[in-house]
Amino acid sequence: MRLAAARTGIVCGIIFVSCGIAVRGQDNAPVKLEVDLRDAAKRVYHSKMEFPVKAGPLTLVYPKWIPGEHSPTSAIVDATGLHFRGSGKEIAWRRDDVDVYAFHCEVPGGVTVLEVTLDYLLPVESGTAGVPSASARVAVLPWNLVVLYPDGARADDVKFAPSIRVPEGWKFATALQLTGNNRAEGVAEFETVSLTTLVDSPLLAGAFFKTYDLAPGQKTEHRLNIAADSSAATAISNEELQHMRQLVSETEALFGTHHYRHYDFLLALSDHLQPNGLEHHESSDNRGPERMWLDPDTLETLVDLLPHEYFHSWNGKYRRPAGLATRNYQEPMKGDLLWVYEGLTQYYGVMLAARSGFWSPAQLRETLAATAAYLNDRPGRTWRDLEDTAISTQLLYGARSGGSSWRRSVDYYDESTLIWLEVDTIIRKESKAQKSLDDFCKKFHGTDAGLIKVAPYTLDDVVATMNTVAPYDWNKFFEDRIHSHGPGAPLGGITNSGWKLTFNEAMNEHQRAEEDSDHMVDVSFSLGFTVHAPGGDEANSVIDVIPGSAAANAGIAPGMHLVAVNGRRWSPDILHAAIHTAKTSKEPIELLLENDDYYRVHSVECYGGERYPHLTAAGGADVLSEIAKRHAAQVAK
Ligand SMILES: [Zn+2]
Repeated sequence: MRLAAARTGIVCGIIFVSCGIAVRGQDNAPVKLEVDLRDAAKRVYHSKMEFPVKAGPLTLVYPKWIPGEHSPTSAIVDATGLHFRGSGKEIAWRRDDVDVYAFHCEVPGGVTVLEVTLDYLLPVESGTAGVPSASARVAVLPWNLVVLYPDGARADDVKFAPSIRVPEGWKFATALQLTGNNRAEGVAEFETVSLTTLVDSPLLAGAFFKTYDLAPGQKTEHRLNIAADSSAATAISNEELQHMRQLVSETEALFGTHHYRHYDFLLALSDHLQPNGLEHHESSDNRGPERMWLDPDTLETLVDLLPHEYFHSWNGKYRRPAGLATRNYQEPMKGDLLWVYEGLTQYYGVMLAARSGFWSPAQLRETLAATAAYLNDRPGRTWRDLEDTAISTQLLYGARSGGSSWRRSVDYYDESTLIWLEVDTIIRKESKAQKSLDDFCKKFHGTDAGLIKVAPYTLDDVVATMNTVAPYDWNKFFEDRIHSHGPGAPLGGITNSGWKLTFNEAMNEHQRAEEDSDHMVDVSFSLGFTVHAPGGDEANSVIDVIPGSAAANAGIAPGMHLVAVNGRRWSPDILHAAIHTAKTSKEPIELLLENDDYYRVHSVECYGGERYPHLTAAGGADVLSEIAKRHAAQVAK
């Protein structure tokens, strides 16, 4: 994912004893699960479960810690309409006083099947309780939203026999395999799987649906499944299809093997969902704006999403930090190694976007320059090191943008891109260009061919494998990087790869695409702030201000609203022109801001003109282009 306390541990332990009594665990009969998506457009998913039980106390729990989300889900607030029934009669349940994800009941004598029904109310907009998963024409079903399971059980041990009903005329895709035995008209029945596999295999459904073959003629099927809010949005060009096929080819070549029966990219395109991605072994749940393939700026900013989630099948799903490899969804996760789980994935997501042809070398450099400059400029690292951003993952995913320069964000994504680039360049240097980080990936992630399993690791395991590729003091290197307080970001990888971070007045192309697709203006490298562009819900509000910048020194803070520049109603063009003029006039830029009900003119002293980051050739070998070039054979057009 691009977006994890032990406080329930004791409670779970207690409940574990009681649950073992009531569920007929010995025969391991599956829980029959029927999910009805026909009300998806009304933002309701209906679920019915049938648990094989015996008389006695029973506790069922709602999944709390979802793999890849690294933090507890708050979706339970929308789990509604909960009924327990046995032999046609209502059975009373009581939510646990401490662990609100647990439901206790007493199964009466003679009841062998406990029927549980649940309605999941989908959020329409992002808020504090979950994220939207359906629009009027698209539905994504992460099964964890609609299931309970016996408390204390291992997710691998609980079996589910799932089936689905989708709105008439809608199509769907999932990594789960159909049985072909449909119970009723319009009901699709899937293979019986463990709860682990169920949660790991979301379903994408939609009125406008298209599937692309990404590995034609090959033994292992790879597909791109798109469900969108319009038919036009499901179309991708031949060039983009070729890039997707190259992505599969490049990634398979990188690892040498895989851990799935087949792979399905599930891509939901709707302006009513949040751009996001969640990794799985055999699929990925990717979400983007409706016009992702139609708008070049949106594609530019989101195109590394698909490589990122695909790479996770190896790094995150198969190989997983021990603290994130939990036995069920109630056990808390530890995120300290997310700079490997997410960081290495972010690095390769970027490089595979380039190797596949989605980004040109120049686009890659602009992306890296924007990332490096952003991290280099923010002072939050003076109090918070990179490891703490990983440990704090369950806090930082939900943190607001305001204050992020000082708070820091989930920097174990972007900063690790710089760190793993440095690792790659060190391996290449130490091995005299005979080895690279690709060799580490082959050794670390390329084992257990064809098996769908989790192989947990520690930092010692990472370091040990690194040393078999290129002996170096990797322990010290990683300790230095993840505990650094700066100043500045780790730029050694950029330097080692033949480039340096420079600034000039020409806008960074990746930054420009982000500004256009996100409707914001980023003058953080000159004035020191970002602001929402005019129009839209959050128009004119200052997103963040960098402590110590010209804007901060002038008293500007996040949440204020920009009204005027040098006495004239502001627009992005007027703001850019004022920065340019101040370079020669040496007059402060007068910014009128509204702070709640009060207006004030802030005099911003910024005379350096516009400043945007770029990578400039430093004279040595261009190792970056070597890393980013196509590695596998070019796929046929
Ligand atoms: Zn991720």
